[in-house]
Amino acid sequence: MDCIFCRIIKGEIPSYTVYEDDTVKAFLDINPDTNGHLLIIPKEHFKDLDSTNDTVLLHIFEVARSLKKKLEEQLHIDGLTLIQNNGEVQEVKHFHLHLKPYYKEEQSLMKVEDVHSLLTK
Ligand code: 5GP
Ligand code: ZN
Repeated sequence: MDCIFCRIIKGEIPSYTVYEDDTVKAFLDINPDTNGHLLIIPKEHFKDLDSTNDTVLLHIFEVARSLKKKLEEQLHIDGLTLIQNNGEVQEVKHFHLHLKPYYKEEQSLMKVEDVHSLLTK
C-alpha cells in the first residue's frame, strides 16, 4: 500500500515533526493555511474516522490539547480550528487531525524552519 503518511512515519519522506510517541506523530502541514498548521496522525494506518479506535482518538485529542498550548505560547495564536476530513473531502487516506491556528491580525507565512524551531522549544 502506498500511503504518504505511512512513509512519513517510516522516515522515508521527511517531515517537520513537532511531537512523536509510540502511538502518534504530529508535524507541520506541507501546505499551511496559517503559521503553525499541524497534522496529528496515528502511527498505525487507519483510513478514516470509522476505522480508528477510541483509544487512539482520545490520545490524538490529548496531544492536540498539549500542542494548542504550545501554539498559544510560541506563536500567540488567537484561536484554533480542528478539522478531520473523511470521504470525498479527504485527500490523504490515512486518518489525520488538522490543527489550524487563527490569528486576529493577518500574518505573512513564516519559513517552515522557523515555525518548527519555535514549536520544538
Ligand atoms: P486532507 O486529506 O485532510 O484533505 O488534507 C491532507 C493534508 O495533508 C493537506 O493539508 C496537505 O497539505 C497535507 N499533506 C499532503 N502531503 C503531505 C506531505 O507529504 N507532507 C506534509 N507535511 N503534509 C502533507
Ligand atoms: Zn498510512
